[in-house]
Amino acid sequence: MLNLVIFGAPGSGKGTQSEHLTNRYGLFHISTGEVLRDHISRGTELGKIADSYISKGNLIPDELMLKVLEKTLDENPEATANGVIFDGFPRTIPQAEALGEMMKRRGTRIHSVVGLEVPEEELIKRLIHRGKESGRADDNPDTIKTRLDVYHQQTAPLRKYYTDRNTYHAVEGSGDVAKIFNDISKHIDTLDHAD
Ligand code: AMP
Repeated sequence: MLNLVIFGAPGSGKGTQSEHLTNRYGLFHISTGEVLRDHISRGTELGKIADSYISKGNLIPDELMLKVLEKTLDENPEATANGVIFDGFPRTIPQAEALGEMMKRRGTRIHSVVGLEVPEEELIKRLIHRGKESGRADDNPDTIKTRLDVYHQQTAPLRKYYTDRNTYHAVEGSGDVAKIFNDISKHIDTLDHAD
């Protein structure tokens, strides 16, 4: 079992690196943003609620997000058997605490939180560029600013939370995608993940 959190600000490359990691380590990729966007595109009740937060750049309330995450895990017992990459989750301290409990109940733990560290100016450039390419509604200048503020206030404290628990591993997230992936893989290959 190998459970990883890929951590970082919006635009830090979590999705790109998660895809590479999924392929190399046979893990199940859960992007909470993707799960929510899928609900929005299908027009579900959850999608309607999620859209009211996402379109403003705010976080979905913890309680709701936790239900969505637990459901995703419950619905994919076989695919998650080797382990999971959590991408975009946790984003708050209560989410991190709940994730720890959830892993414990499943007889496992989070083996590492890989933090992609990218300077703020580069994040903004990447998000504006992505908005043009992908058409993601929340990649526009106003919402980008809110999302980065929300990240600093609510999510960045998780760096200390996991550092205090000896679970945080920083990776330089600027530059060549293959090199960043190589740095992450080298770290993962040192992890003890028998449990
Ligand atoms: P992402 O694709 O990870 O950038 O997520 C897009 C948006 O989905 C975020 O700006 C939030 O509004 C929402 N979202 C995704 N993951 C979470 C989470 N763990 N907690 C709360 N909101 C989330």
